[in-house]
Amino acid sequence: MSTNLGRIAGVNGNLITVEFENPVIQNEVAYALVDDLRLKAEVIRVRGNKAELQVFEDTTDLKIGDQVEFTGELLAVELGPGLLAQVYDGLQNPLPALAEQSGFFLQRGKYLQPLSRDAEWEFTPKAKSGDKLFAGDTLGIVPEGMFEHHVMVPFRLRGELQVEEVVSAGKYKVDQRVAVLKDAGGRSHEVTMVQQWPVKIPINCYAERLRPTEPLTTKIRIIDTFYPVARGGTYCIPGPFGAGKTVLQQLTSRHADVDIVIVAACGERAGEVVETLREFPELTDPRTGRSLMERTMIICNTSSMPVAAREASVYTAVTVAEYYRQMGLNVLLLADSTSRWAQALREMSGRLEEIPGEEAFPAYLESVIAAFYERGGVVKLRDGRTGSVTIGGTVSPAGGNFEEPVTQGTLKVVGAFHGLSRARSDARRYPAIDPLESWSKYVGVVDAGDVAYAHRLLRQGNEVSQMMKVVGEEGTSLDDFLVYLKAEYLDAAYLQQDAYHEVEGATTADRQKHVFGIFVRILKAGMKFEDKDAARRFFSRLTQTTKDWNRAEMKSDEFKQLEERISQMLAEVTENE
Ligand code: ADP
Ligand code: MG
Repeated sequence: MSTNLGRIAGVNGNLITVEFENPVIQNEVAYALVDDLRLKAEVIRVRGNKAELQVFEDTTDLKIGDQVEFTGELLAVELGPGLLAQVYDGLQNPLPALAEQSGFFLQRGKYLQPLSRDAEWEFTPKAKSGDKLFAGDTLGIVPEGMFEHHVMVPFRLRGELQVEEVVSAGKYKVDQRVAVLKDAGGRSHEVTMVQQWPVKIPINCYAERLRPTEPLTTKIRIIDTFYPVARGGTYCIPGPFGAGKTVLQQLTSRHADVDIVIVAACGERAGEVVETLREFPELTDPRTGRSLMERTMIICNTSSMPVAAREASVYTAVTVAEYYRQMGLNVLLLADSTSRWAQALREMSGRLEEIPGEEAFPAYLESVIAAFYERGGVVKLRDGRTGSVTIGGTVSPAGGNFEEPVTQGTLKVVGAFHGLSRARSDARRYPAIDPLESWSKYVGVVDAGDVAYAHRLLRQGNEVSQMMKVVGEEGTSLDDFLVYLKAEYLDAAYLQQDAYHEVEGATTADRQKHVFGIFVRILKAGMKFEDKDAARRFFSRLTQTTKDWNRAEMKSDEFKQLEERISQMLAEVTENE
């Protein structure tokens, strides 16, 4: 086959215009040839005999007349055993996880194979010759970390396929043949453990999509109790710089009740991603005591890398997430920050001279965001098992203004909204999720009526607090003051959570049910106090005791004693009806 070549007719930052003779296709991969380097690029617009390409590398020495080689292949990821525990850049180049410096990113124009060609995997066949299968069905399994990695019928094969041969159990390398399949047209296809899949096309080899109904517990109280996330659901965390978005995602990646976590880090600062890479391998999985990396894959880009690579990284991440979902696993995809990705879209759109929408973002921004979050979901596989991809994305609007297009576009499509507030992070009320602004459409772990009650009380407490700023404490009735104290108590001892405390850092769903039940009893109790000072003293002691209780191991003697003391304290101030 002759290569399809074109010539550069214009260079505008990371956008190049290329004249071609033979047809090229949208999202096709091409390489700009400069000196002895091949710089990877993607076709993003085709008009007449000219194509516009975004180059995933620094383009300073590209010039008019330079050659471009079109591959005819869509931008794709490589899928197979060995993806977990890896750190990749946006183009799926493996990066050393323990790099000392930020200087570890690859040299320009150097691309590595994502999966090792030397590693051997213990393959156990699950299909046998004569079986009739479809794309995404399991041919065999190999152990990967703590999972059974399913070697599946390649997703690109369509229609019913007949198994002609499956190799016997044993050790194989990823590009050795493990099966031969015959399609309806009688053509044979050799199958290995590795396949390519275009990142911008969802993997849809499942039987049906299901509604996300099961809570995904994060062990963060304000999330699970008040603004829950569902397995296969979507949520967003907008917040100003420094409010705690990245910390919140790191906590979630550690504690969320899922099998696999995929982190797409589009760093705000160059150092941030490197910090993530340094910290992650040291974290242990609270469920297994093993390194968290065994069930994690990280894709990272820093702000110093070309913007186009950021765009690629979110698609690479979601495609890998879909791949593991197809094995019947629960996957959590965390994207931090989607604003960096949107900025990349804005930059390219500007270079393409498209008609801009709000704040110069492309007019299609919302549909791009929607299409990304739509790739989350719970699916039922053909053999009846289910898998899920949950997507959580942070948004970092300038100045923390949620009215901007990326936050608004995301809000329209996600199922839960965890808005971080500057006021709360300044007051070190962590996690800084605003209890009055946030919402969720999913079902949580505690009684919904109780949550509604507590939520109403928070709102009333806030109203009293606003009023007190005007009329002072003297001008506030004792009843109103009590509402305020109860709301503050709920905030201080339940919504706020010490993430770094061994016990309190992860509050299980069972514990939340138990503890929240007692909170609701306290919030509902009619209380009698001499005056405001007496009430204030009582709630100050109650808050302290409850915080101690939060730190005690559940079911320990200490836990029981503190619970007993809280009940006694409550009984002492409760009005006898
Ligand atoms: P963002 O990603 O929103 O810019 P970070 O997640 O990097 O913000 O948080 C900034 C800083 O705030 C952290 O380095 C940490 O000191 C503090 N912080 C954030 N969340 C918490 C938390 N849950 N508990 C304690 N400190 C926190
Ligand atoms: Mg951050």
